[in-house]
Amino acid sequence: MIAEAPVVVPANELNPWISAETRFNQAATLLGIDDGMRKMLSTPTRELTVAIPVLLDDGRLEVFTGYRVQHSIARGPAKGGIRFAPDVSLDEVRALSSWMTWKCAVVNIPYGGAKGGVICDPSIMSDGELERLTRRYTSAIIEMIGPEIDIPAPDLGTNERMMAWIMDTYSMHVRQATATAVVTGKPVSLGGSKGRAEATGRGCMIVCQQALAKLGKAPSEAEVIIQGFGNVGGTSARLMAKAGFKIVSIVEWDGAVYNAHGLDIEKLMQHRRETGSIVDFAGAENIDKDEALTLECDILLPAAKENVITSRNAAKIRAKVICEGANGPTTPAADPILRENNVFIIPDILANAGGVSVSYFEWVQDRMGYFWNEELVIQRLEEIMVTAFHDVVNYAEKHKVDNRTAANMLGLDRVISAIKLRGLYA
Ligand code: NAD
Repeated sequence: MIAEAPVVVPANELNPWISAETRFNQAATLLGIDDGMRKMLSTPTRELTVAIPVLLDDGRLEVFTGYRVQHSIARGPAKGGIRFAPDVSLDEVRALSSWMTWKCAVVNIPYGGAKGGVICDPSIMSDGELERLTRRYTSAIIEMIGPEIDIPAPDLGTNERMMAWIMDTYSMHVRQATATAVVTGKPVSLGGSKGRAEATGRGCMIVCQQALAKLGKAPSEAEVIIQGFGNVGGTSARLMAKAGFKIVSIVEWDGAVYNAHGLDIEKLMQHRRETGSIVDFAGAENIDKDEALTLECDILLPAAKENVITSRNAAKIRAKVICEGANGPTTPAADPILRENNVFIIPDILANAGGVSVSYFEWVQDRMGYFWNEELVIQRLEEIMVTAFHDVVNYAEKHKVDNRTAANMLGLDRVISAIKLRGLYA
């Protein structure tokens, strides 16, 4: 028997900046954007690469590489998270910063787009090393950030503790006590917002509810598969299970679990806390993690990482709806295949915008020095997500394009309109 050759995804398909450029050009062409504006919006406004010397616990001196990219500041100060991961690259940070520009425009909050990253492995670093790295990185990019300039937030590998260190480092540099509005995703006791920690997952649930209503299905009839059981995936799973969705499978890097009657998410979380993994959970069977993504279901919610749905597996996807909790989980080469199969896509720049929306609320509260209760945060988040969902879907219907193209066109349209109104400073 001849062994089947492994299907290899071309390297270009996996480069996030090429993906971002491809989708930008598709939207720009459909909108008839001229060459000058294209050049302006496909070139990030500012990029900084920094060397970050850090004294490790064993006495060695290590030098890490960090980036901060501001893609656009047309609609407001730049906004975007900071990622600590071994595979961070300038192209990835560029792509993520441009997605932030379009995302903030799609949900209509007054921000531009930015992103930061440091090449490191936070899982093998001590708290002390992480604190020294975070503070030195902050001081290296200090001219680029500020409440009216660029406001970082957490992303993969960073958390609210690190945001508190960023706030403290910045405050000491600018000789202020607590410049809370310089960063979002902070602890609630230090200028953070209620509801921020679960905002992205809650936003995913809200857009899934809207999509199901459009497809004429009740949440209790909807079978959901979620990849990633971290902040976005875990919160989505918990809130959606509570709201009546049937979460039939959770997929992680080391395996997947399945229960046709619906998983007990709270118990699965407890199992993961106790064992360090979701596999071998008493309330489910272990299944193959790649096959799990291709099972028939109503909603597939990739909430782990980039490049999960590619030209290699897109044709096998049997979900009716894909809600992109992660940034960039679908490559442009997979788009036409999913479109052909009538999959209803809730694109990342809409689906996971709940996080930046509540970050915006946090910044507003910090600037006012007056804090909202959780009900108000949830109510305002719901307003933003429901409006943005219908803006995108109506735009898609009106212009006869798919939801992703519509979201990109809508974001681009709003950014260009701001640039035209402001004019060019010279
Ligand atoms: P996280 O680190 O909390 O969770 C990620 C989870 O995915 C972890 O449980 C990890 O084990 C799992 N994972 C990693 N590799 C995997 C693989 N190959 N297969 C299956 N599971 C895998 O991160 P997060 O904050 O939940 O972010 C997830 C995604 O959502 C990222 O793309 C991030 O940029 C995006 N996002 C996050 C937020 C936010 O507010 N946290 C907002 C917008 C977008």
